[in-house]
Amino acid sequence: MTRELVGIGIVSGSAPGVAIGRAHLLGASELDIPQYQIERKDVLHEVARLNNAFSIVRAELDELRGQVAPDAPGEVVAFLDLHRMILDDSHLCDTPRDLVRSKLINAEWALSMQLEEVCRQFESIDDEYLRERSQDVRQVVDRVMKALAHGKPQTAVAVPKVAEGERLILVARDMAPADVLHLKDRADLDVAGFVTELGGPTSHTAILARSLGLPAVLGVAGAREAVREGDLVVIDAEAGRLHIVPEAGALGEFRQRLRAQTEARAQLRRLKGRIARTRDGVPLELMANIELPGDVRDALEAGADGIGLFRTEFLFMNRDRLPDEDEQFEAYAKVARAMKGKPVVIRTLDIGADKVLNEAARLSLGIAQGAPTVESNPALGLRAIRYCLAYPELFLTQLRAILRASAVGTVRILVPMLAHVHEVEQALAFVARAREQLKERKQKFDGRVPVGGMIEVPAAALSMPAFVKRMKFFSLGTNDLIQYTLAIDRADSSVAHLYDHLHPAVLHLIARTIRVGMRARTPVAVCGEMAGEVELAELLLGMGLRQYSMHPSQLLTVKERLMTLSTKSAAKLAARVLRADDPMDVRRALERALARQQAA
Ligand code: PEP
Ligand code: MG
Repeated sequence: MTRELVGIGIVSGSAPGVAIGRAHLLGASELDIPQYQIERKDVLHEVARLNNAFSIVRAELDELRGQVAPDAPGEVVAFLDLHRMILDDSHLCDTPRDLVRSKLINAEWALSMQLEEVCRQFESIDDEYLRERSQDVRQVVDRVMKALAHGKPQTAVAVPKVAEGERLILVARDMAPADVLHLKDRADLDVAGFVTELGGPTSHTAILARSLGLPAVLGVAGAREAVREGDLVVIDAEAGRLHIVPEAGALGEFRQRLRAQTEARAQLRRLKGRIARTRDGVPLELMANIELPGDVRDALEAGADGIGLFRTEFLFMNRDRLPDEDEQFEAYAKVARAMKGKPVVIRTLDIGADKVLNEAARLSLGIAQGAPTVESNPALGLRAIRYCLAYPELFLTQLRAILRASAVGTVRILVPMLAHVHEVEQALAFVARAREQLKERKQKFDGRVPVGGMIEVPAAALSMPAFVKRMKFFSLGTNDLIQYTLAIDRADSSVAHLYDHLHPAVLHLIARTIRVGMRARTPVAVCGEMAGEVELAELLLGMGLRQYSMHPSQLLTVKERLMTLSTKSAAKLAARVLRADDPMDVRRALERALARQQAA
């Protein structure tokens, strides 16, 4: 009988959202934990067991780390390193030894007692990302428990029997990064996706699933009870559902969907190496937005013409110590090198509003302890360039790191949230100061690194004639431009229905920004979400846009669309749309244009 369980679907941009295969249940990771009192004479023996188990897991993780393929996603190495760090944390490796001695309990009991204490501390943290790290601690302790139980590494997974051409869907309580790697690297296993009972949308398991291109459904309560070894199962990651032994009709539909998705993706991949131009031969630049250096792999896979937006704030968040100049340089240089001369637009720190620094990191900047993390109007507060100008050392450190990265690739500096000409001038003065400092230190950098500004505040869009005299390029941050034009907090769900990118006021500001840029021969890109929306590709083209920057997963779809369009008919569409009074009229005009093209 077919059954259906619900969880959190994880779809990777480069993989289909459906996976079909035979279920393989991974053994219960929570072993029965033996708990007993010991005699004082046995203390040394129990401590030695603990030491031995920790050494086994250390060696196991080091070995795995050494085997990671050079082209493996950066996250894989990062997670193995994190697990190695957790393993060496004295709270985890020293305190259980003390507990054995003081409470006269066996090694497993001491370790589980300390695990619960550490997890309690994690779980009381307000930040969702950090809270989920308790899962990493559990995964590490799980490995140590297994080593305690068996006295040797437990990495081998029995290979289930599957018919020729059949793939596997792994079903587990939880999957540690090390488990995922083991399974992914086994030549005798063809893993199509996985299902776990634990794990949320920001868990490492989710991040790994995305980076390895495997569809997954996480947080499926009772999955291991409901699924039997060898059952035919379907993962529908788009809907966040696991179908167990689906009926023939439903299975046929899933197979069809999988075929269509695989075919559509293969079709799109063919576009990867093609130069982007419109049907009438106008060249375009399609760039990728990234958040961490590891994302550059997705950008390359999508054949991006460059990185149009590197949101650097993610290097600064969720940590207590801010990255120093060298750490930042390494991150920027990694991306610049990987892009092999293609442009990399590095945005200076856009911290503030919904992107906050940890309390300890804020303390290191001299921000008073207990100062509110979120002011009463965070989106209108100290954010982005305002924040950087308020903390000059923070800004200068980042600028020096970005400039140094220009010695190994083609780098551009992009300044967010500008509203005033004096902010533009101050930002440029800081860049000049950072250049001087590097010269004094005799450090290498490209003296011609262009500095551009983000247009994401209506005041900036209307100040373009003054801005173009001072900056070399611009990028429209439409996510914020919409929020500030329509007075809608992007993070407030109660007004989300009013956040409308087709509002004529927003469209006029975009069109005007592009027009002023074109007249001054200063490039203007769009790097907000609007650039990646395929339905808007023609409208933006018609406004004169030639540079689009978007999430790598959208790039080939937008490219495919743009390559079928002509700039002349796009310009006519834009002119029509810009006469509309209301978002509904805009929508109708876009739909009519699409229907006409489909009919033709
Ligand atoms: C934007 O505002 O459109 C943008 C790209 O920046 P972010 O989404 O990071 O604020
Ligand atoms: Mg923005």
